[in-house]
Amino acid sequence: MRLTFLGTGTSTGVPTLGCRCEVCHSTDPHDNRTRPSLLLEYTGRAVVIDTSPDFRHQALRQGLDRLDAVVFTHDHADHILGLDDVRSFYLRDRIPIPIYADERTMGSIRRVYKYIFDQDYPYGGLAKLDPHIIDGPFEIWGEKLIPLQVFHGNLPVLGFRFGGVFNRLQHHSGVDGGAARRARGVDSGRSPARAAPLSLDGGAVTELGGEAEAAVGLLHTHRTRASSRSHQRNTTCKRSPGLRWP
Ligand SMILES: [Zn+2]
Ligand SMILES: [Zn+2]
Repeated sequence: MRLTFLGTGTSTGVPTLGCRCEVCHSTDPHDNRTRPSLLLEYTGRAVVIDTSPDFRHQALRQGLDRLDAVVFTHDHADHILGLDDVRSFYLRDRIPIPIYADERTMGSIRRVYKYIFDQDYPYGGLAKLDPHIIDGPFEIWGEKLIPLQVFHGNLPVLGFRFGGVFNRLQHHSGVDGGAARRARGVDSGRSPARAAPLSLDGGAVTELGGEAEAAVGLLHTHRTRASSRSHQRNTTCKRSPGLRWP
């Protein structure tokens, strides 16, 4: 499996509109970050986790030529507002695109994209989506994904274990001991939970990564503008050669 970070920015993206901070005015292209999303490629399939408002741009940049499923961590705008753009793949191939989300997130998606699910919508050119509710481990094109509930502020959101070596724990403020053990696939009885306000900072990533050890690695892609690109590389990529940063 190949995993590509399509976007690693915080919810506003970096640079942030109107921000006068040093990072937002940096000339280092690494300080230009689109909203959070991951691309998983395996057995000729392409699965995306979260479609941010930057999805179209990310897909073009990545030369994405197919889309076989979308998985959602939660329903915040920076994770779902690119979903409409998947219609280009549907309109080309005429194969409904499976989407996976927990009940709450799927409810939001159905509300935001009411026209997509509306049988009586009078205009054409819509995506056809095939919704699946996540209520336990599930399989997409032969790959098992294990949902892990974590907290993003006070909001329960989903992280995913997949690929045997990768874990997707999108921005969260704590991991309970049970979720952490499922992430590792071992039961050490120790909890690596650490509180952070909304997103983990670099130090917390290091800490969790160390606790979960190299074979698994707890990946976190929702970076604040204050955390440097080089730190991300140091804390995750060097342990996981299958990762790509476009
Ligand atoms: Zn800034
Ligand atoms: Zn969020």
